[in-house]
Amino acid sequence: MSMNGVTTPTPSLSKEELARYSRHLLMPEINTQGQRRLKAARVLCIGTGGLGSPAALYLGAAGVGTIGLVDFDEVELSNLQRQLLHGTRDVGRSKLESASDRLRDVNPHVEIEAHDCRFCSENATNLVARYDVVVDGSDNFPTRYLSNDVCVWARKPNVYGSVYRFDGQSTVFAPHLGGPCYRCLFPDPPEPGTVPNCAEAGVLGVLPGIVGLVQATETIKLILGIGDSLVGRLLQFDALKMKFREFNLRRDAQCPVCGDSPTITEPIDYEAFCGRADAAEEAKPIRAISVHDLKRKLAQAHSVTLLDVREPFEYEIARIEGSKLIPLSELKGRLGELGREQEIIAMCKSGSRSANAVQLLQKAGFTQSFNLAGGIDAWANEIDPTMEKY
Ligand SMILES: [Zn+2]
Repeated sequence: MSMNGVTTPTPSLSKEELARYSRHLLMPEINTQGQRRLKAARVLCIGTGGLGSPAALYLGAAGVGTIGLVDFDEVELSNLQRQLLHGTRDVGRSKLESASDRLRDVNPHVEIEAHDCRFCSENATNLVARYDVVVDGSDNFPTRYLSNDVCVWARKPNVYGSVYRFDGQSTVFAPHLGGPCYRCLFPDPPEPGTVPNCAEAGVLGVLPGIVGLVQATETIKLILGIGDSLVGRLLQFDALKMKFREFNLRRDAQCPVCGDSPTITEPIDYEAFCGRADAAEEAKPIRAISVHDLKRKLAQAHSVTLLDVREPFEYEIARIEGSKLIPLSELKGRLGELGREQEIIAMCKSGSRSANAVQLLQKAGFTQSFNLAGGIDAWANEIDPTMEKY
């Protein structure tokens, strides 16, 4: 492909493909030559969730010849509000299988390469090497830093997108094309627990659709070599105001990965990097107990207060019997409802909101407060398989 300085001979198109792609072929910016380029292209989608769904669906429909999918999750009911690669009958199935089936139905000419794994330091370099463009549809910081770094080293465009409640953003990280990388913008990951994910904060269902399609559009333009790409520009979208804004981005010459004298030249331990395992934390560590320890305590009729800090609708879906609901946002004003001498075990969906709750409780002098590690999710997975998951 031209964008990598490698010229691949473009494959020809069958009669069926000519008919299928006729609306592309009519446009002089694409025509047969561009459509053959799309067919020759290889795109890696990291994740088949909110962003990966629209991106992969439209890239497949547009005739991108080979789409690699990386995922290891199963389809859950709460995914279906936005992850349209998967349907109701796919709940409980592997996302990779469900996504591959759907994409083959959308366009049987597309070669699907399913990678059943977590995108991690051990496999990222080899995976990225096999593709021309990477679409980062991940929802966590370790994966974002990893896909950024590996793409910088491999000189592959990393088409970035992220969503949060009603806000989304997208850009193309490609220092080899003149723009910055993710680390130029965010040299340090946020403090753990300060940026909630979609499962904690919620997301408007259509939002990843819009952002994922911006990612698909940029990918197609890069493959075709047309238009002005988002390299060097961050596009922000506010769904409530229905406004797109953009900011110019610059490469940081001091960047440890894409700067003039890089100090990071191979994959690191991204979980540790983002968990700040190496940083000496000033704050008191949050004390946690496992779901198994909690089960033992409850079986021994140990006197504990089970404090659930999720929202009422979540409590409605699933809860541990006997738990008291005080949503995190109300906790500060309702501390009087809790006993200071009492052992308190705080819980939420996955353990991140409740970690904040324990921090708040400890500061307020509730010395016997603990976080339930892994939250209600862990309870459902490890203790009570009949519990509804969301
Ligand atoms: Zn950089």
